[in-house]
Amino acid sequence: MSALARRVPARPLALALLALAVTTLAMLAFRARLDKAHVALIYLLIVLGGSAAGGRILGIGLGVSAFLLFNIFFLPPYNTLSLADPLDWLVLFTFLVTSVVATELLDRLRRNAALAEARTGELDRLATLGAETLNAARADQALTGIADVIRQTVGVEKCELFIWDSDQGELRRIAESPAAGDAKSTDTESTELLTYVASTRRSAIEREDGTIHVVGDSESESSPALSQSGTAFAIALAARGQTVGALRISAHAPFALAADQSRVLGALAYYAALAIYRLRLERAEETTESLRRADKLKDALLASVSHDLRTPLTTIKGIAHEISQQGQSRATVIEEEADRLSSLVDGLLAMSQLSAGVLKVEPELNTVDDLVGAALQRAETVLRDHPVETDISEGAMIAGRFDFGHTLRIVVNLLENAAKYSPARAPIAIGAERRDGEIRISVSDRGPGVPISARDRIFEPFYRAPGATPDVRGAGLGLSIARRLAEAQGGALAIHERQGGGSTFVLSLPGAEAPTA
Ligand code: ADP
Repeated sequence: MSALARRVPARPLALALLALAVTTLAMLAFRARLDKAHVALIYLLIVLGGSAAGGRILGIGLGVSAFLLFNIFFLPPYNTLSLADPLDWLVLFTFLVTSVVATELLDRLRRNAALAEARTGELDRLATLGAETLNAARADQALTGIADVIRQTVGVEKCELFIWDSDQGELRRIAESPAAGDAKSTDTESTELLTYVASTRRSAIEREDGTIHVVGDSESESSPALSQSGTAFAIALAARGQTVGALRISAHAPFALAADQSRVLGALAYYAALAIYRLRLERAEETTESLRRADKLKDALLASVSHDLRTPLTTIKGIAHEISQQGQSRATVIEEEADRLSSLVDGLLAMSQLSAGVLKVEPELNTVDDLVGAALQRAETVLRDHPVETDISEGAMIAGRFDFGHTLRIVVNLLENAAKYSPARAPIAIGAERRDGEIRISVSDRGPGVPISARDRIFEPFYRAPGATPDVRGAGLGLSIARRLAEAQGGALAIHERQGGGSTFVLSLPGAEAPTA
């Protein structure tokens, strides 16, 4: 079939030729009574009818044919192309120009109507897609719908959508059209293209020779210029200013997109970006929710386990004590281990109560002197190998508003750590002063100190500084509980490097006027 025949539909062509032949014959029968204007008007009608039904080419073809028929049969001398009256050339020329102009105008109107229809179709599809994206129960369902619409609208073999996994730093396929199991599914993998888009977060095309070229910028959120030809296009998808994923369209044979296809793809890609953005939000919400549930479960478990361990530990300790009194020295080991376990269980219980916000804190007016005295007594055993220097600047006059039991626990923990982490016979100093309306209790040692990089971390639960004395046992809970207990009373706990070696832990608490004796 010739190119011309393909562009002129057969039915209007046959009808127009028939009309031209019949009218010419009919007009020939009445030629003597017809005026030139009648002939021109009748032929013009056929030209317009033909071009309305069959398009521009048919219209112009009919115009030229009618021009010749007019000349040969209706302008003297008849049956020749020559004209007796030169003015008849003007008539013929006017006829030809009118036919061509009318045909062109009709054609333009038709094209505009077709364009308007296509735009309405585009709008309809976008509106449906928008509604689907918003109404789909889950964002991943909407994504499969979007991939389908993109593939059909742009007219490519395959459309895939990928989500950007910021933890892993890679793109993961989340939807594809046709579906993976579909017979029409093609295998046009272009991993290199995706890796490129993932690393640069820009849109790119892959040419038939395998080379990759950048075509757009995800940050601009605008439609990419895809007029170049390639076997796959990958577009970085951005929503709310962040790259959320990528879209890949591909086919076996190279293809290019017309300007209007690029524009529609840009709009559809934005819907895809929004749906992926929504999916990411949904996933983040699910993760937060499951973490929250796991956290709650962990707290409940911790509380119940610690609680249930306490009673048997007390029994074990009691029996071990009895046996050691009867001269069995090895029972003291059991007693000491039970003590260690008890203090770990106490720590865990305090931690779970602090996390759950159910630990009772009752700040009252207390003196530092009482507190330090009780702490030294409680830590007596561990301090027996260390000389202790006490420096309380105003003695019994320093008073504060704190929970005595919780604060005692903090100070004892600091003293135990000072003893644990410094060599035998190294002195330990405990001091107290009032400064800026608060009281500061400090515990200093001549141990190895804590490297700057670990100073914040030692207050995290279960953290033990690297290189911590290996034969010193501990769970890494003491300081984290101590700091949280201090904060629960409106105070703070910090570590400082001690001049001449070692560390100084400073506990600050709200001060108060000393009680009058
Ligand atoms: P634990 O002593 O059970 O390990 P802590 O929470 O009390 O747990 O202490 C956390 C870590 O901080 C310890 O493992 C140790 O590395 C470091 N640390 C605590 N106190 C001192 C100190 N006085 N000197 C040196 N390092 C210390």
